[in-house]
Amino acid sequence: MDVKDNLQHIMKRIEQSCEKVNRKSTEVKIIGVTKYVSIPRASEALAAGVIHLGENRVEEGLEKREALGDKAIWHFIGNLQSKKVKQMIDQFDYLHSLDRLSLAKEINKRAPHGTSIKCFVQINVSGEESKSGINPSDAIQFVTSLKQFEAIEVVGLMTMAPFVENKEETRPVFRKLKELKDTIEALQLPHAPCHELSMGMSNDYEVAVEEGATFIRIGSSLVGNES
Ligand SMILES: *Cc1c(COP(=O)(O)O)cnc(C)c1O
Repeated sequence: MDVKDNLQHIMKRIEQSCEKVNRKSTEVKIIGVTKYVSIPRASEALAAGVIHLGENRVEEGLEKREALGDKAIWHFIGNLQSKKVKQMIDQFDYLHSLDRLSLAKEINKRAPHGTSIKCFVQINVSGEESKSGINPSDAIQFVTSLKQFEAIEVVGLMTMAPFVENKEETRPVFRKLKELKDTIEALQLPHAPCHELSMGMSNDYEVAVEEGATFIRIGSSLVGNES
């Protein structure tokens, strides 16, 4: 288990995927998801050159942030309970899981005055009941309605593809999210520039990169799993 080797391997694959579809690999940012690992392992990821770190629980995320500080750009990628917004909102740089108006309202209330919070709207493209996220057919209306919350900036869309053996099966999910992103981006809403696509995990990031991902969220194949 060497984070540096893993990172090299992942970066090489990103380059290959980018080449296939004529993208620049610099457009793809790797979020090291450290939710399964200790602070020392997360620190190794930083030392290896990973800049973006992702956590899906408020307490663990805050603990790591406390230990590792501003050396990283922090992403909150998990379901977020409204009651926990207050303690985390000024500690993370991006939120990937904005999926309801009540959460947007709470973020708006708790965001430090005059700041805007970079949010991805989570979309449930696959329609699996176990997954959170806005229904694709409601996405435009949802994003438009976020205009009322001045502290919310919609930087992009996020999705999780189903976990499948054959990763090709994830392609339609990623393609759909890209289409939706392009549609919203074209509306040129001041509160929703929507340039980014957060999609792809250890199992399927190559397909996601081929389909336009700008942030991929990689846990186990980068930092392993110590839990
Ligand atoms: C855990 C998690 C990941 C990373 O998962 P891996 O399969 O280990 O790469 C990415 N995104 C979200 C939302 C997660 O919860």
